[in-house]
Amino acid sequence: SRRVGILALQGGVVEHARMVEELRSEAVPVRRAGDLARLDALILPGGESTALLRLLAAFDLTRALADTARAVPTLGTCAGLILLARLGALDVDVERNAFGPQVDSAEAVLPWRGGRVRAALIRAPRITRVGEGVEALSTWTDPRRPDEDPSVVGVERIGAGGRIIGVAFHPELTGDTTIHRELLA
Ligand code: GLN
Repeated sequence: SRRVGILALQGGVVEHARMVEELRSEAVPVRRAGDLARLDALILPGGESTALLRLLAAFDLTRALADTARAVPTLGTCAGLILLARLGALDVDVERNAFGPQVDSAEAVLPWRGGRVRAALIRAPRITRVGEGVEALSTWTDPRRPDEDPSVVGVERIGAGGRIIGVAFHPELTGDTTIHRELLA
């Protein structure tokens, strides 16, 4: 079975682990650089990106995590997407808490490639610039702000190590395994 590392310093680790196990793969908690060895895929969960970046530095994990994200298929959700941008693994600009502090959460069915994915948005960021080699896969219009242009909320880059998928939302909270299956495909 495939070994999927899940950054486990802070944030929504358990829900990702459940999805990985549902897909008959092994969830490997990542807390130190040694945990990044022999992974087949990597997940950076949601949480609080400022806290996560600080913990990465404190645990001396920043460099090794960036290298691993480039070496194996990687998924970042919400704060994990922000990390992928900060680590230089995805060339995108991200605006944190983009849908306003008053919008604490929403559930939505979003376009995803040719299909759909069920997602939760919780103090979600949005992607304000998509760099070269990065493809926008999903957009969302906040129903509370129907006059705004749709925001990019999902991207992918195909790197040397495979897919790097970044989403502003949480697919792991809705039971929809679409994106996790792509990560493990
Ligand atoms: N607002 C958080 C941040 O900026 C992300 C929220 C989340 O991961 N659900 O880090």
